[in-house]
Amino acid sequence: MEEIMSVPNGPVAVITGSSRGIGAAIAERLSEEGCRVVINYIHSEPLANQLAGKLSQKGFPAIACQGDVGNRDDRQRLLETTLKAFGRIDILVNNAGITSQGRKDILDSTEDSWDLVFDTNLKGPFFLSQLAARQMRLQVDSHPRVIVNINSVSSYAVSENRADYCIAKAGLEMMTKLFASRLADDGIFVYEVCPGVINSDMTAPVKEKYDNLIANGLTPIKRWGTCDDVATAVQLLTSGKLAFTTGERLNVDGGFHIRRI
Ligand code: NAP
Repeated sequence: MEEIMSVPNGPVAVITGSSRGIGAAIAERLSEEGCRVVINYIHSEPLANQLAGKLSQKGFPAIACQGDVGNRDDRQRLLETTLKAFGRIDILVNNAGITSQGRKDILDSTEDSWDLVFDTNLKGPFFLSQLAARQMRLQVDSHPRVIVNINSVSSYAVSENRADYCIAKAGLEMMTKLFASRLADDGIFVYEVCPGVINSDMTAPVKEKYDNLIANGLTPIKRWGTCDDVATAVQLLTSGKLAFTTGERLNVDGGFHIRRI
């Protein structure tokens, strides 16, 4: 009861691509932690509305907002809708992402896939962070202000059939550092979470491949990651408790990043 009473003035969190998968788990977790959440999606209106309805019913303010993060007007509308509903933005989670279209070998990959992947996975997060940061700088009063980018082990591990995805995610790592450096004086902290193999719609088409790789020791922790595992990392990074830490990467990958011989 006490927790629910504190929600109406809680931090406002925008989670891109939160109609399903990792983003939905993050939205649900931040909501349970007392945030007012904006559930962004591109196509899945029923899923987004369903999640917003479920959270609202529990007494946690939540709205759904359609918008393609790769589109300038949509990003502006996402910010405006957030401000209209809640008057502020304290947390931005750049989660929306797509994989390489058709997962084609690097020698056959297409410009269409490159443009779509880069618009969604890198340009969108960059310019949405810019918009959010400008607003966050006006808010010096209360809640921690944090941007979290959902990166990937693909930012450093090669998949020859997902070149555009890998290169966009590598760019996102530098983006995290750039914004962390620029916004530190404003007390706005920027982090990235680096998931490994996570059970979601994105990895469903390659489930068998990863079942085998995991069973054969791909990761020291021999299981698939869950969307909740990633949500826990975002919860920690947005808690405001890491007061001397910015630009940091938190691996949620079962130990995949550990080089082993
Ligand atoms: P997912 O299950 O495919 O869900 C993708 C989400 O992003 C959906 O909510 C989708 O909305 C939304 N979305 C896609 N394009 C969008 C756009 N242009 N504008 C706004 N929203 C958009 O993916 P996921 O596995 O949860 O992945 C989420 C993030 O984690 C991505 O950045 C991905 O790169 C990263 N990641 C995933 C894994 C993994 O193993 N799954 C590993 C490392 C990193 P609709 O429902 O409307 O389509």
